[in-house]
Amino acid sequence: MTNPYRSLPSVDRLLADDLVAPLAVRHGHDAVVAIARSVLEEYRGAVERTGDPPDRPAAEAVAERAQTLERSLRRTINASGIVIHTNLGRAPLSEAAIEAMAEAGRGYSNLEFDLDGGERGSRFTHLAGLLRRVTGAEAGIAVNNNASALLLALSALATGGEVVISRGQLVEIGGGFRIPDVMRQSNARLVEVGSTNRTYTRDYAEAITEDTVALLRVHSSNFRIVGFTESAPLAELAALARERGLLLIDDVGSGALLDTRPYGMAEEPLVQDSIAAGADVVLFSGDKLVGGPQAGIAVGEAEAIAAMQRHPLARAMRMDKSSIAALVATLEHYTRGEAVEQVPVWRMIAAPLDQLRRRARRWARACGDAAEAVAGSSMIGGGSLPGEGLETVLCSVTPPAGDATAFAAALRAADPPVIARIERDRVLLDPRTVAPSEDGEVQAILGALCATDAARADAAGSGAGDSAGR
Ligand SMILES: *Cc1c(COP(=O)(O)O)cnc(C)c1O
Repeated sequence: MTNPYRSLPSVDRLLADDLVAPLAVRHGHDAVVAIARSVLEEYRGAVERTGDPPDRPAAEAVAERAQTLERSLRRTINASGIVIHTNLGRAPLSEAAIEAMAEAGRGYSNLEFDLDGGERGSRFTHLAGLLRRVTGAEAGIAVNNNASALLLALSALATGGEVVISRGQLVEIGGGFRIPDVMRQSNARLVEVGSTNRTYTRDYAEAITEDTVALLRVHSSNFRIVGFTESAPLAELAALARERGLLLIDDVGSGALLDTRPYGMAEEPLVQDSIAAGADVVLFSGDKLVGGPQAGIAVGEAEAIAAMQRHPLARAMRMDKSSIAALVATLEHYTRGEAVEQVPVWRMIAAPLDQLRRRARRWARACGDAAEAVAGSSMIGGGSLPGEGLETVLCSVTPPAGDATAFAAALRAADPPVIARIERDRVLLDPRTVAPSEDGEVQAILGALCATDAARADAAGSGAGDSAGR
């Protein structure tokens, strides 16, 4: 009888295996040796217990375990049709913004250095002028994200005082970020007025006491109450705030700087309009409809913005140099009047339907009989324009093996992963949110998966005929 231990490979032989050798190059020799040793130890344990090594070749076990060494954060193709997809990293950046980030990262910069005086400067100066020009406000600063901008605004401007807000706007934005919780963190006291569906300017007026310091309006970004509704117009709130010596803080959320209506969407509040209507501080995200890096932007009245900048939390929430560089480059697209052409989020929103149709048809052809181009709708996402679709053309796959969930999972397991939607046993892919430069990859992945799926359907003896009714 042969010694079963001798059928186990040595660490060196494992490392030379075709499956394992490239992994050592990719992840480093030592990491893969450690995995090979632990796999061999388990295999020896199995021999000890059962007299035989496991059936599966040790090299395969090493390769599988080496997957834990893969990077967790990966480029992902967004075929979901949701333009600002928070789970997929929101806004892709413009070429100029990417270039600016790379340059900021590559070397030194005058991030906090005054080149004229040769002394310490402030990182906030790089954005101040641009934010003024783009929004028409007196002043502006940017911090890490809009959640922090709101916390900073309330902490710097309303701590210890009362802030009046409509019951219809006590929203949870997502990820557990709730307006009442932020208020509590800032030590501002929340005074709720009106009802969920109706709040009038007089409701705010009646709630004002000598402790009131601000009125807060929060854009109900990610949901819409329809029907019998009423909210106080911003200009009326601004007049009320001015008359009673209060601040009006307006969290517009997405922060559109361009009119959304010419692209077949409903109106999204414009930052410039809030400033013009008399809001003292307007807050919005950098990576929603602005189409830049993650940031929370506050623009408005100079004294209020200065108080936010002086507050100790501003230091804790400060943006990183490469994000500042990317936000500067993104805002410059607006001052140059080229945002629709240069900012990817806007390019996607403005994508012509015939171009989307051509791409969806090409994707469908890659899949053969199992796919076709169909009319559908894309979503803006990121809490902008809920319930507002944007007309598009989708590549609709009816998986030959009949299992849309499994097909979508196989798309996610591809390299790079592709994120699609499922609707009534079909897998839908929207070209709007995919860069045209990624079309080749999508077609190759779809081609391979549809062929595998068709083969599986044949093997199971259930052709498209039987699975169609499932
Ligand atoms: C998205 C959103 C926020 C949070 O912004 P982040 O940049 O994600 O932190 C806050 N308020 C409103 C109204 C929003 O839509």
